[in-house]
Amino acid sequence: MLFCLFSVSLTFAQQLDFVDFKRVEALVVFNQFAVDSTVYNSYEVDFKIKSATDSIYLDAVGMRFKHVALNNTAVTYKNDGKHLIIYKDFKSNELHTLSFVFFSAPKKAMYFLGWENEAKNQIWTQGQGKYTSNWLPSIDDVNDKIEFDLSFVAPNGYDVISNGKLTSKTESARSTLWEYNMQNPMSSYLVAVVVGKYNKKVEVSNSGIPLSYYYYPEDSLKVEPTYRYSKQMFDFLEEEIGVVYPWQNYKQIPVHDFLYAGMENTSATIFSDAFVVDAIGFNDKNYVNVNAHELAHQWFGNLVTAKSSEHHWLQEGFATYYALLAERQVFGLDYFYFKLYESAQDLGKQDIAGVGTSLLNPKASSLTFYQRGAWVLHALRDKVGDVIFKQAVQNYLKKYQFKAVETVDFISEVETLAEQNLADFVNVWLVQKEFPFDAAVGVLKKQSEHIQEYIMVDCEAKTSKCEDYLKYYVSDEAKAKVIAQMPQLVTKTVFNNGLKVRQAISEHVAKIPVSLKLDYESLLEDESYITIENALYNLWVNFPLERSKYLSKTKNVSGFNDKNVRLLWLVLNLNTPEYQSDKKQAVYNELVSYTGVAYNADLRRSAFEYLDVIKGCEEQCKSNLETAKSHHNWRLVKFAKQLAEKLAQNKE
Ligand SMILES: [Zn+2]
Repeated sequence: MLFCLFSVSLTFAQQLDFVDFKRVEALVVFNQFAVDSTVYNSYEVDFKIKSATDSIYLDAVGMRFKHVALNNTAVTYKNDGKHLIIYKDFKSNELHTLSFVFFSAPKKAMYFLGWENEAKNQIWTQGQGKYTSNWLPSIDDVNDKIEFDLSFVAPNGYDVISNGKLTSKTESARSTLWEYNMQNPMSSYLVAVVVGKYNKKVEVSNSGIPLSYYYYPEDSLKVEPTYRYSKQMFDFLEEEIGVVYPWQNYKQIPVHDFLYAGMENTSATIFSDAFVVDAIGFNDKNYVNVNAHELAHQWFGNLVTAKSSEHHWLQEGFATYYALLAERQVFGLDYFYFKLYESAQDLGKQDIAGVGTSLLNPKASSLTFYQRGAWVLHALRDKVGDVIFKQAVQNYLKKYQFKAVETVDFISEVETLAEQNLADFVNVWLVQKEFPFDAAVGVLKKQSEHIQEYIMVDCEAKTSKCEDYLKYYVSDEAKAKVIAQMPQLVTKTVFNNGLKVRQAISEHVAKIPVSLKLDYESLLEDESYITIENALYNLWVNFPLERSKYLSKTKNVSGFNDKNVRLLWLVLNLNTPEYQSDKKQAVYNELVSYTGVAYNADLRRSAFEYLDVIKGCEEQCKSNLETAKSHHNWRLVKFAKQLAEKLAQNKE
């Protein structure tokens, strides 16, 4: 038995040496819609034998197959539940076409939302790590890059968005056939499809690439703030990276209850609709960074792909760094250096907590892969200079395009151009366990007076000048730092600062002196839903006689997509007997309704938390808590299980 296990894993691990899959042409029918039960999922893949073998396989989890044929002739195959294995005496250099009909009912990787109650009616996929094979036969190994030309049948009235270019759309009585075409190969984890009801806005990049911004029909007013700077950042990154955007177009699609912030599927980034914001929401929680990050992946990750998780930083570190460069272009140098300073601090804290690792450890934290990876590039650029750095990145991308890469592939491009041995640099910045915090801060101090000032302004080190810092000119970040350290120093004049300083007041000044009451009340009108939420709560607590006034003033504010202000407002309303005394039942019902399946996971979770705090999770809330346990978002599931257990224990 040991022998069998060994030989099977050996076969599955080394297939890349024997076969190269070239092109997949597949039709996927969403018969969950009961579109047409006579149309089936069909699949065709061309491959080349690299060296003789007695079998080849596709990854295909929990599927059934029919009409399996090799070059149009029936062939011996086996379905072991995870693979479709084809047996034949394959000789090297042979070209073959495998075709079949398949049936899949994916338990992960493809998510169906709102089918029960038609609240959202979306389908979307998440292929990374190795999940695409749950809905589409493919190759879990990232090193085999395939051209995917996918078609879909979906009911009329829905949009279908996938990788590549839409070449035709054929509408029949009940359903529409959408045909997409790619020109270049990619790893299977980057395959994606979204089905939903969308409008879109299209711009064209300076280089002629169509940029499509998808949005829900009801969100037309949020298109501008959500996608702000998209074209500017696209043009900037193409210029900065120095290699033309490698795909036919670029589409960005928000979806409901996504598992992450965003996912860089080739030419079709999917992102969480929590980032769909209005002009006020933009100030606190915008899509700019995620937008640039997923875009940068179209080169770093999709064009060149890390061979294994040991080299994961070649994707996340690069995407994080180039997103920061794009943000530098939009928000300026001070912003850029401050973000780098924050990430150095986070990495330093991680080491102090004893959980830091080498960047090349396949089990490194996200913080390490993303932020330390970005730091490697910032420090390397500082060491070898802009010109060499940019040229090396270009050479690296061109040499390894549509291939898989390792850390040494990138480093040796830099070494060649810089005519330097980078072994010591690699050891300090990538290999050693500890993040070189002092060296990182040294780089920043050399580059930025803004950071020098921020470090100097420290009320924990010396308190004498702190009042002055709030009065005179230091940066908003430095003022916010003083307010966090010594909130008692806030005076009327401090309110005359910008959004971020005022936000710091709302966060740190919880006990409001009567002399600051009027100024504090003005925070309720700031263009920040975080500030409004904090200020409403603090004012309500500090001035009980004015509660009705504060509630009345904020009754039309909803907040972010998780309705942060509205939820607080409902709870405070329930705790203010004199305000809207005849409407308490309706207010309570609204709060409970947000725990329901129609709403996004973050909103449901906050609503459950508030109901728990006010001991108001009764029948409807409890029943919604049960359904939350089977949600696809594991964070909500974990939360729901814990809360249900807690409620069961405190019955009385
Ligand atoms: Zn990423």
